[in-house]
Amino acid sequence: MILSADPNLVATNLQEIRNRIVAACANSGRRPEEVTLVAVSKTHPADAVLEALAAGQMVFGENRVQEAAQKFPGQRAAHPAMRLHIIGGLQTNKAREAVRLADCIETIDRPRLAEAIADAIQREGRSPDLLVQVNIGDEPQKSGIPTAEADHFIADCRNRFGAMLQGLMCIPPADSDPAPHFAALATMARRHGLAVISMGMSGDFETAIAQGATHVRVGTAIFGHRPPLAPPASAP
Ligand SMILES: *Cc1c(COP(=O)(O)O)cnc(C)c1O
Repeated sequence: MILSADPNLVATNLQEIRNRIVAACANSGRRPEEVTLVAVSKTHPADAVLEALAAGQMVFGENRVQEAAQKFPGQRAAHPAMRLHIIGGLQTNKAREAVRLADCIETIDRPRLAEAIADAIQREGRSPDLLVQVNIGDEPQKSGIPTAEADHFIADCRNRFGAMLQGLMCIPPADSDPAPHFAALATMARRHGLAVISMGMSGDFETAIAQGATHVRVGTAIFGHRPPLAPPASAP
C-alpha cells in the first residue's frame, strides 16, 4: 500500500478509524457517542491538522506545548469547536502555557505539577478539563502517578480542582497484554466517580474500548508514521 499516493489519506484513515470505533462499541454493547476520538497530530505539520479538520475531526492531541502553540491557535478562529488535548509529560514551567492553550490537560501526575496547574488556572482565568495520568504498569521510565499513590493523589486533585478533574489517563506497558491495565484504570476511575477514561492508541484502541475507554488517542493510524528522530543510516 503506497500511502502517500492518496491525497485524501488523512480523511480516508479517519473514516476507517471511526468505523472501527463503531464496530468496537457494538462488540462491547456500548454506544459510539460514548467514545471520543482524539487525533494525535504530534510531529505532523499543520497541513495534516487542516486535512483532519476538513474531514470533520475536531479533537486533537499534542505532546509538546511548544509545538501545539505553533500549530493550533491559528485554527481556532475558523474552527471554534476544535479542542486541543495536551497528552505529553509536562514540566512545571510549561504549566501556564498549557493552561492558556489546552481544552484538556491529560497528564497531571505529581503534586508539584498539580500546584503549578492550579496556579496557572488562577492567573490565566481559564479552566481546562484535567485528567490524572496513572503509571498503570508502574514502569520506572514512564510518567504517571504510581498505582500505590494514585488513590491519594486523585483525591487530592479532586479537592484542589473540583469538577475540573474529569478523569484518568494511562499508557500501558508496551510489551504485555494491555487489557488488564485498561481494566485497572477503568476500575480506578469508577471508584473515584470520574467519567473520563483516556486510554488506547493506534495498536490497541479497540481493546481499550472494550474495557471502557471514553477517549482513545490515535496518531499513527490517522496521520501515518511519525518522522524518525534521525535519518536511517543508509538507504539503497
Ligand atoms: C503518540 C501518542 C499517542 C498516539 O500513539 P499512536 O500509536 O501513534 O496512535 C497516544 N497517546 C500518547 C500519550 C502519545 O504520546
